[in-house]
Amino acid sequence: MGEIIVVGTGFSGSILARKIAEELDRKVIVVEKRSHIGGNMYDEYDEHGILIQKYGPHFLNTNKYFIIKFLKQYGELFPHCTKLLSYLDKRYIRLPFNFESVQQLLGAEQSETIINKLRKVFFGRDRVPVLELVDCKDEDINRFGTFLFEKAFKTYTSKMWGIPVDKIDKYVLDRVPMALNYDERYLNKDFQYLPKNGFTDLFKNMLDHPNIDVMLNTDALEYITFDENAKRISYDGKNVELLIFTGAIDELFNLKYGSLPYRSLDIHYEYHKDNSVLPTEIISFPQADGKTRSTEYRKIMYDDRNVSGSVVATEYPLWYDKNAEVGNIPYYPVVTEESNSIYEKYRLEVEKYGNIVLCGRLAEYKYYNMDICIEHALEKFEEIRKRLEESK
Ligand SMILES: Cc1cc2nc3c(=O)[nH]c(=O)nc-3n(C[C@H](O)[C@H](O)[C@H](O)COP(=O)(O)OP(=O)(O)OC[C@H]3O[C@@H](n4cnc5c(N)ncnc54)[C@H](O)[C@@H]3O)c2cc1C
Repeated sequence: MGEIIVVGTGFSGSILARKIAEELDRKVIVVEKRSHIGGNMYDEYDEHGILIQKYGPHFLNTNKYFIIKFLKQYGELFPHCTKLLSYLDKRYIRLPFNFESVQQLLGAEQSETIINKLRKVFFGRDRVPVLELVDCKDEDINRFGTFLFEKAFKTYTSKMWGIPVDKIDKYVLDRVPMALNYDERYLNKDFQYLPKNGFTDLFKNMLDHPNIDVMLNTDALEYITFDENAKRISYDGKNVELLIFTGAIDELFNLKYGSLPYRSLDIHYEYHKDNSVLPTEIISFPQADGKTRSTEYRKIMYDDRNVSGSVVATEYPLWYDKNAEVGNIPYYPVVTEESNSIYEKYRLEVEKYGNIVLCGRLAEYKYYNMDICIEHALEKFEEIRKRLEESK
């Protein structure tokens, strides 16, 4: 037996640490390089009493209620359906684009034909990726899809990802749908929630277990050593039985096969004396220079009675650079054919050791949302349980 080390305190690391500590009754050392737990879901109250999500707005949404039930063990949740608007041609248009947006963009009379065609061609579906409209054989739908694509989708997407749209993974592109009805919810999942006391509180409760030791402000890479010949890993000189890694996989191996691209965000905050600033909680800016969206956090707080004024956070995407002053946090893996082939080399490197578990958005280089991330961590735990029980 050796140490069980978990690197990272986002959902992936925190869930695995808790399950191992609680259900397998094993000691777990959790290492986090930031000064706080929670990874990109970290939130904190600012000096005005507003709960700010420091790394951009996060909303929990899923069709699987067991995810909600799982999280409710660690904190109270309240229902919240996210609403967005897109600022296009100096006016606010509903996002996701829906039949209301068609009327806003084309005018009521002109929208009749296209709305009826969308209903007929995509009968039985409630949302369709914008790119499917562009590829549609029907001329009117194709023209409308191309109009949306050129006006909003292309500019927003290339600003967000920093590469031309045709290089971006289809899975990522298909995340931007049009609603084939008047549904105003940004996401069409059945269960949409936010934690009453914020995400950090939820993480705090999850990591609060006698078998868990959390080391903040600690870069695990400074303590992990690989013995390539013996295929052994040690942490701070001690033998590692299991290394659960949720950070950037290329950094784990000192970029030996090259660096993987990630997008980061530069987030600018503005305090306003007014209690309400934006017409809804998030505004997307497909046509503006540099910025992609603004979030007004007060609008998503469970209880804002003790708050005065409001804060708007605006995101400017940029490339991740570990050593830069701004943009030194990897937010989004940029999945392309090329980056996938680099990733594969790292994955094979991991396999050589047999006791490294990769889990999460950065370690697996996938665009996981929280719900997928949580479900996936729970599945990984079952593999870990088997592995640790077999090795007893
Ligand atoms: C701006 C933004 C908005 C999002 N909005 C939503 C949303 O609305 N809904 C949704 O479902 N999902 C959303 N997501 C996705 C969600 O953030 C991820 O699914 C989730 O954060 C992934 O958790 P994780 O544990 O895999 O990774 P992370 O949260 O990134 O955690 C990894 C942790 O590992 C630590 N770490 C890395 N390297 C080391 C090291 N060497 N030593 C020690 N610690 C290390 C990091 O500091 C970090 O804390 C959003 C993501 C972003 C970036």
